Amino acid sequence: MNVCPLCNGLRALYFFCPHCRTELEDQGKVTDYFGPYSPYMEIDRMKQVDGYETTWRNHECVHLFYCPYCGEEEVRFIKE
Ligand SMILES: [Zn+2]
Ligand SMILES: [Zn+2]
Repeated sequence: MNVCPLCNGLRALYFFCPHCRTELEDQGKVTDYFGPYSPYMEIDRMKQVDGYETTWRNHECVHLFYCPYCGEEEVRFIKE
């Protein structure tokens, strides 16, 4: 069974904003964030992120990170 280290608190992963280098805040899984009732937002997100659909097969957990300084949102693929 694959578990996401971030969702399960196994280890911390740090990412930094490409614009201002502020540490990004983990907003949780993208699927949790948008919820199952907002498929249109997920489709928009899928268009932005190349290969999004493959993550389910590759056992990757898709997290949304947010820069508190400049508001930049980053999607990162966390290997489970
Ligand atoms: Zn996760
Ligand atoms: Zn930033």
